[in-house]
Amino acid sequence: MKTIGLLGGMSWESTANYYKHINHGVKSKLGGLHSAEIVMKSLDFAPIAELQQANKWDTMADMLTQDARDIERAGADFILICTNTMHLIFDAVQAGVGIPLIHIADPTGEQLKHDGKQKVGLLGTQFTMSESFYKDRLKSKFDIDVIVPNEADQKVIHDVIYNELCVGEIKSESKQVYLEVIAKLQAQGAEAVILGCTEIALLVNENDTDIPVYDTAVLHADSAVSNSLKH
Ligand code: GLU
Repeated sequence: MKTIGLLGGMSWESTANYYKHINHGVKSKLGGLHSAEIVMKSLDFAPIAELQQANKWDTMADMLTQDARDIERAGADFILICTNTMHLIFDAVQAGVGIPLIHIADPTGEQLKHDGKQKVGLLGTQFTMSESFYKDRLKSKFDIDVIVPNEADQKVIHDVIYNELCVGEIKSESKQVYLEVIAKLQAQGAEAVILGCTEIALLVNENDTDIPVYDTAVLHADSAVSNSLKH
């Protein structure tokens, strides 16, 4: 079994689910007392969130590269950055380590393609929805067209992530708002919705809506399990 590296804490609410999901995945494949081999570095999210607000992506790239090197030195065979947003600096972190990183958009794109989805809605932080790094990867690698909420809706979705979900608050009013935004994306032709922030599944899941939802955290964690068990 290969050792999985997790760069987490962004936020820990979702990293906890990665940890659980990966262990369940290995147990369900190998049975008995088996569990995953994991090296995890979990960061304090407060300074990261401040740097995001200040758009200091180069600083964060340097920081996360050091963290990824720590994980590599601790024996990981590959690394997952357990947040969609921080994939904005994926290339810089990948360039700074000698082991592969699994990009969170890749298992999501593979599953969407496998399911024949061509036009999908994307929910995430404002960085993920408005910058090109995520949408472009899905288009160039998987030929998937991504649509995002309007600017006002992006702000509401973003604020709920930082002010509520990342601090463990789950509110039914916010769930309603999310479902309304999802309905608008569906009306614009989205065949599925990407939960492109690792905390969103704490609020909304496939039972809440009739449009298929793709939880990036689960798909990312599943890819860690299959990579870990690949010979
Ligand atoms: N976990 C979130 C994501 O998947 C947001 C927190 C962050 O900015 O890293 O994008």
